[in-house]
Amino acid sequence: MAKIRIGIRGDIMDVYLDTAASTPLLQSVKDKLLSILDIYANPSSLHTRGQQASSIIEEAKQGISSKLNCNPEEIYFTSGATMSNNQAILGFIKRHPGCAMVTSCIEHDDIYLMIQDYSYNLKHLIPCDTNGFLDLDSLKECLDELQSKERTILLSIQWANNETGVIQDMEAICDIVNSYPDVYIHTDATQYIPYYPIDLSFIKVDMLSCSAQKIGGLKGTGLLYVRNNVKLSPIIYGDQGLIGGTENVPGIACIGEAVKSISYSNEKLIENRNYLYHKLRNYGTLVGSLDNRLPNNLNMIFSDVRGEELQAFMSDFGVYVSTGSACSSHTDKPSRTLTAMGYSADQANSSIRFSLGKDITKEELDYVAIVTTNGIDALRQK
Ligand code: PMP
Repeated sequence: MAKIRIGIRGDIMDVYLDTAASTPLLQSVKDKLLSILDIYANPSSLHTRGQQASSIIEEAKQGISSKLNCNPEEIYFTSGATMSNNQAILGFIKRHPGCAMVTSCIEHDDIYLMIQDYSYNLKHLIPCDTNGFLDLDSLKECLDELQSKERTILLSIQWANNETGVIQDMEAICDIVNSYPDVYIHTDATQYIPYYPIDLSFIKVDMLSCSAQKIGGLKGTGLLYVRNNVKLSPIIYGDQGLIGGTENVPGIACIGEAVKSISYSNEKLIENRNYLYHKLRNYGTLVGSLDNRLPNNLNMIFSDVRGEELQAFMSDFGVYVSTGSACSSHTDKPSRTLTAMGYSADQANSSIRFSLGKDITKEELDYVAIVTTNGIDALRQK
């Protein structure tokens, strides 16, 4: 493999491979934002200007609900997937005191840590296999056991994992859940929604969360779908119904535009992701399998290399990746997801997540492969 001339800045490209953490704003989103920036009235005001702001929110709800095939009044806006997840789960627990919580060992921290705090709600963690797929037999056993105690149950399962990109079989999970009475299902679709269509008239989840920043929208905006038969209590009180406070009109306009703009053409992305994998496969091990994995995700373990050292090396050469997930990369702990899949702490600490954008080129990937392998060689010799 060709070598880069380390230290000669002229050789350096700038390649962003962290779309699982955040995506650039779409051009259509920028245009939308500029077109409404002067609409500053409070959407709750009853005068014409207020109603103009309110109609932006309605337009966003209409666009999102027609994309997801649900009713506009089932869509709520939040400050991001963290708030959506918290509102869905805490709102449910408050409304159904004594309900049991079931989730998995590979959820995002916002759910995992939240349910640790709610220790009085019986909680169960569904394990996963070495490829990151949840054990559905264990899910059934768990629901059987809880049902025998006649409890209302809330199951929260991430549709696709932010670190490994592994996609769960949500249809099969919903089939299981729907065969029991009084079991509700929430899914965190933050990583899934940019790539695959979701038809909520077909996939029977009761609640769904996602974040604008993963689909070319503004940071600080998310959405929560709540099926109209599901009752939640507020967690943020105010005068706006379920979610108090004045709505973030620009953010909402942008998430509406971003959801509307999602295109489901993944072939090129998969081809590029696999191209990079084939360039790196002799240097490391793929986490999980290439099947049932998000098209943008490549997560690899490079043994005898600290992930954060490799990440820093690559960043110096203009290649931007994450160790594990961007959200947990400030902790020293090995990735909970990778250890749940059976990797050792050392292996988990040697992982790098490459998450590709749709406009990446082969030339950029050639450069990424050279920087990565040079970094691995340099760090292994240290
Ligand atoms: N869930 C998943 C799966 C995510 O990837 C993220 C973002 N890393 C979140 C929730 C939280 O999203 P936000 O930062 O927009 O609140």
